[in-house]
Amino acid sequence: MQDIEIDRIVAEVVRRIHSEQNNSAPPSDEKSEPKWDADSFIERSKIAQRKFQELGLEIRKRAIRAMRCAIIEKADELGQMAVSETTFGKMPDKREKILLAADKTPGVEDLVTRTFSGDNGLTIEEPAPYGVVLSITPSTNPPSTVVNNSISNIAAGNSIIFQPHPSAKNVSILTANILRDAISSVGVPADTILCVPEPTLDTANELMHHPGINLVVVTGGMGVVNAALNCGKKAICAGPGNPPVIVDETADISKAAKDVVAGASFDNGVLCTAEKEAFVVESVADEFLRQMRAAGAFQLSPTDAQKVVEMVIESDPTGSGERHPAINKKFVGKNASVIAKSAGIDVADAPLLFFEAQWDSPIVMVEQLMPVFPVVRVPNVDEAMRLAVLVEHNFKHTFIMHSKNIERLSKMARLCNGNIFVKNGPSFAGLGYRGEGHTTLTIAGTTGEGLTSARSFVRPRRCTLVDYFRII
Ligand code: NAD
Repeated sequence: MQDIEIDRIVAEVVRRIHSEQNNSAPPSDEKSEPKWDADSFIERSKIAQRKFQELGLEIRKRAIRAMRCAIIEKADELGQMAVSETTFGKMPDKREKILLAADKTPGVEDLVTRTFSGDNGLTIEEPAPYGVVLSITPSTNPPSTVVNNSISNIAAGNSIIFQPHPSAKNVSILTANILRDAISSVGVPADTILCVPEPTLDTANELMHHPGINLVVVTGGMGVVNAALNCGKKAICAGPGNPPVIVDETADISKAAKDVVAGASFDNGVLCTAEKEAFVVESVADEFLRQMRAAGAFQLSPTDAQKVVEMVIESDPTGSGERHPAINKKFVGKNASVIAKSAGIDVADAPLLFFEAQWDSPIVMVEQLMPVFPVVRVPNVDEAMRLAVLVEHNFKHTFIMHSKNIERLSKMARLCNGNIFVKNGPSFAGLGYRGEGHTTLTIAGTTGEGLTSARSFVRPRRCTLVDYFRII
């Protein structure tokens, strides 16, 4: 029997004992559905965090095991609910993201204590909690971000208050409640994890500026990133991306096309790391398009592509005449066939719509968050690299490249300056999904923490003893 299975059984037994005890006890405030007002909510979180920090490190490990098991058991239900509440994305990909967050978010082992010993004594630097953390989460990955940020912050010793996207409120609250039950089953105060029951922009702003919040973590678009950067306290900001994929003439074209279709259509394109446009060297472009079709994607004719682009991109969304194109949110995360049908095109069951586009087309420039994928022909790989960097807008997010030329791969790795650079694989490999490395749903390109984990949510505190405790 595997460790995770043993942990799951232990957690289930503890949960049952705990729930029997709770059922026979008078209802406690901690277990009831939290009501929201900023001051009392933050006070509850602060009290829970102080108790939690006193409990030590072993209990954090037990809490994280219980959280992983509880979420793995509910992944199907949470995935279904996320799709039906937000109308974004699809099963089974939603479930896969939740399982990924439960399995591959690092725990306490991610924290590192540093020591310095020398003629003047001994100094240690320990990863200490911030205290109360506010996490503002997106509509595109609601349960997976709550799971990921919870595990990271329980490992770090913080308490966490979630402010979910209003359109993903119910699934986020359910996820937080499952996690609250899991941590309390091993003796961690349930209020270490709280979720705002009626999230609005006002509650987000009130919490962000509240003196009781010690760290703000945001995962979303530029609006919330700018709000967090201006909130006057430490903020970890995971903003938008527009990941380009480059395919050069040395690549395995059939594999490149399969990987691009898999990555760009995963959860209907809502992942911030997903391929959003391709730059393909002219000499292999026709073959690449053919292999995209062979991989199951549907190629739109130039006329149909124009119809779809005009439908999914609003060229002047504010009506100001300034023409800052933006996506039409109505089509975010929808199935390819639904988008095609809305444009009067009949497409059965394809995971992705694709078409040829000019590099400066709005669909290349904006982050479309849907399975509608432009392919741009370029004369050579240097031009592909130049344009890829340009259309990524310096978000420092994600780049993908298919090539067998190691000099070109190395050149692009330096040039792109992204948090993630995937070589010869689908974009999601960079999140540790069918790729190596830990996962995160909060990639903080804007503020530089990159792929966040427990160590991103602690502050190093130094303790120095002068002249003693050195034995070497
Ligand atoms: P969004 O920006 O609309 O919302 C994200 C969260 O911020 C929500 O909780 C929302 O209510 C809140 N919010 C939005 N504007 C705000 C403001 N001005 N003040 C306070 N709170 C505000 O994003 P979304 O549509 O839910 O998610 C998709 C976006 O998030 C995409 O741009 C995607 O690339 C990005 N994203 C980034 C990462 C990452 O790790 N870098 C991960 C997931 C999503």
